[in-house]
Amino acid sequence: MSRVYIFDTTLRDGEQSPGCSMTTPEKLKMAAALADLGVDVLEAGFPIASDGDYEAVDAVSRQFHWLQVAALARAYTPDIERAAKALQHARRPRIHTFIATSDIHLQHKLRKTRQQVFDDAVAAVTLARNYTDDVEFSAEDATRTDPEYLEEICLAVVEAGARTVNLPDTVGYSIPEEYAALIRRMVGVLGDRATVSVHCHDDLGLAVANSLAAIAAGARQVECTINGIGERAGNAALEEIVMALKTRHDRLPFETKIHSEKLFPASQLLTQFITFGPQPNKSIVGENAFSHEAGIHQDGYLKNPSTYEIMSPASVGVPESRIVLGKHSGRHALKKRAEDLGFRLSKEELDEVYHRFTHLADNKKGLRNDEIIALVEEVVGRAAAVGR
Ligand code: MN
Repeated sequence: MSRVYIFDTTLRDGEQSPGCSMTTPEKLKMAAALADLGVDVLEAGFPIASDGDYEAVDAVSRQFHWLQVAALARAYTPDIERAAKALQHARRPRIHTFIATSDIHLQHKLRKTRQQVFDDAVAAVTLARNYTDDVEFSAEDATRTDPEYLEEICLAVVEAGARTVNLPDTVGYSIPEEYAALIRRMVGVLGDRATVSVHCHDDLGLAVANSLAAIAAGARQVECTINGIGERAGNAALEEIVMALKTRHDRLPFETKIHSEKLFPASQLLTQFITFGPQPNKSIVGENAFSHEAGIHQDGYLKNPSTYEIMSPASVGVPESRIVLGKHSGRHALKKRAEDLGFRLSKEELDEVYHRFTHLADNKKGLRNDEIIALVEEVVGRAAAVGR
């Protein structure tokens, strides 16, 4: 059985996208949820980018020192030194250094020759290895890079000490068969000397499909985010990759260490911190992902859930029972629902929420999850509410 490592970049690639900025306390709460979920590597930020990012990587490294914590750095000495410093309290620090390798980026962005980029990449990995054994190299825009040149760079950075080589589809341009061929080629070239990693963007809606094709072709680390947040159309969604591997184990015989029943709570927690949640019809974690509306579907579902459900809501942490929270509901059901939505309430907080809930529920048919969230937030305050 092949193990696939989950590299979460919710706090880095996810966080750097519009509407997704998080404070350090929020990042720490999210990191706790990600650790609980069982991610293998947690990319906590890009320390040279801002003081906030530095502080977040430092705080995550201190508080979750047993985790494999990664920090991003351009292939540039000040970046690598800053990343190393931010990671100084991590027991298993990973420096993740990158440089673009496609001619488009070389000519228009970096204004460097292939030889210069090659030398920068090797020098960055060599420097990073002075700080940690765990160095990842990313060839930005790998999918639009001349494969011959990509091969040379990958071999050289592995020779310099990189243990993970990431081949991102930075601009979401690739399609599954093509990406799989590239990954298969690089896995063949690098053999056992390095783990080949993938990092896909969803510009064409193919991030998860490309990631799965890459895993089948030999990639053993996949970079992804909760709810698929990230630059532009987002990154590959962690929950979709994990559940595809789990649900279609017959065709994708790979293991992750993710506790899938914690996917929905993690998604809900993230939603509290950023400005938007998953769209209602989002796979796995959307509000409607396990709802049945059409009469024929409801009828089949009620006779046997397997007629219309390929995975159980409980397997991803969606509250199994579709209990309508109404005026006859008790404190226990309310507490359970609040927990399912990412809130841990103290006894006094629960009493207060329950008091307000009974008043509201008297005049309604039932409270929706967003109404429950609003109620809880009214009582405990938005930022303080979550992750306790
Ligand atoms: Mn990215």
